[in-house]
Amino acid sequence: MRMSFKIKVIALFTIMIVIIFIIIAITFTLTRANELKKDIISSARMYVQLTNDKIGDAFIRYYKTGFFKFREIVLHQIGLSSDLKHIQIIDFEGTIYFDSQEIGSGRFFLAGYYKCVTDSFILQNTKKMEAKQRLRNDLTIISPYTDEYGVHRFSIVYYFSLERLAKGIATLQRNTVLLYNGIVLIGFVISILFANQITRHLARLRNAAKLIAAGDFTKIVTIKTNDEFEDLAKVFNFMTEEIRRNVRELKNLVKELKKRDEQKTQFLANLSHELRTPLTASLGYVDYLQKGKLGTLSEAQLRSLGIIKRNLERLNNEIHSLLQISKYTLEGIKLQPQKVSINEIIKPIINTFKPDIENKKLNINFDFRVDYFYADKDYLRTVFENLIGNAVKFSGPSSGIKISTDRYTEDNKKYTIVVVSDQGIGIPQKRLKKIFEPFYQVDTSTTRKYSGIGLGLSIARSIVEAHNGRIWAESEKNGTTFKFIIPYEE
Ligand code: ADP
Repeated sequence: MRMSFKIKVIALFTIMIVIIFIIIAITFTLTRANELKKDIISSARMYVQLTNDKIGDAFIRYYKTGFFKFREIVLHQIGLSSDLKHIQIIDFEGTIYFDSQEIGSGRFFLAGYYKCVTDSFILQNTKKMEAKQRLRNDLTIISPYTDEYGVHRFSIVYYFSLERLAKGIATLQRNTVLLYNGIVLIGFVISILFANQITRHLARLRNAAKLIAAGDFTKIVTIKTNDEFEDLAKVFNFMTEEIRRNVRELKNLVKELKKRDEQKTQFLANLSHELRTPLTASLGYVDYLQKGKLGTLSEAQLRSLGIIKRNLERLNNEIHSLLQISKYTLEGIKLQPQKVSINEIIKPIINTFKPDIENKKLNINFDFRVDYFYADKDYLRTVFENLIGNAVKFSGPSSGIKISTDRYTEDNKKYTIVVVSDQGIGIPQKRLKKIFEPFYQVDTSTTRKYSGIGLGLSIARSIVEAHNGRIWAESEKNGTTFKFIIPYEE
């Protein structure tokens, strides 16, 4: 998942604020809870100190005489503390004599008598008799009572509720949660402001980079933050300046190269034209000689003339290709589309290659499911000439060539597809695209077996593309298949 830098900064900063808050909140809650606990314990101890004698005296005084008076005193004393739940009076063996919880049930004096503890016992149990406190679900303080003669009679057990502590902690927690929500919100807002501050400069650099990508090198980014962003802006501006300079140089270079390319093409056109004129004349004279119009020639002379003618014709074809490619480059391809019959194109071409076909004993197969094209006849003939010429050239003896046409649909458009396949030398897979480039040949060694200057397929591609079509090659171990498509209808 892609996460923008801004979102990352916001998330990180918010998380940081939340973590800091949680640490502070936990520390604060623990401290406050501790303080509250201490407060409850100290006020409970204070209460015990103040009331212990009063309750003890009253118990002794009213134990045998007036129970109800004792009850009143106890209730009054209990009422003085908001934390106290109830008290018990127990002897040193743990026998309970009185329990304030039982007031109202009518039997709050639980034992008939209580044991009096002697001095010697007090001495033995001094430690045991010291006021003890226990903190579990509630706070229990056991406070020994000694009468006016110093005799330990009993102990008073005070049960204090820790509800105040629980409530205090709950209030603290509630307030912490409320505060937490507020902090998260404020943290989030601060994070957004902070992230905006950081990413503002990045956004400016990004926008400038976009302008550069679109070819505008005039933008200068000014950032005055006296930090890394300012350095980055300086480097960025330097880079823009460099690119501006390089692009200017490149443009000049391209202009120059285009000019030279045009000059070269023009030169090629002129040269081809100049070469062709004497060639045509030479071919005419060879024809004259062959027909015996300049006297009868011997067998050997006629054979030599045949060789001269074949070579001159080959040269003528190459020069024709050179002329064609320079013409397309200089003038473009101007089509004159019309309805063309496939047989009308193919038959003369097959006738042209007849000597080679017969020499190699090639088996040519036709399968035309579409008989007519809507195309420029002359240009289409050139495409077929090049494809069939290559198939014948690169085929071994007694192999087969198949030429077929059919209907074809691509991206919901109707096309005619032409397939020319041979069983010749094939083309390595990685060269299949390159062969359509001008002057490209798979075998470039000086000892190569096949003639040619690498223009046929590039001419064919220019023509097919001018017809809004597409040409490509497929190759297996035993042979090559060329396919091209052109729109089926006008
Ligand atoms: P040329 O045939 O004049 O060299 P092309 O442009 O017609 O130029 O072809 C370019 C190259 O593609 C050829 O040199 C050859 O290496 C390869 N090629 C073309 N057609 C075939 C084919 N039918 N079988 C094998 N290789 C082919």
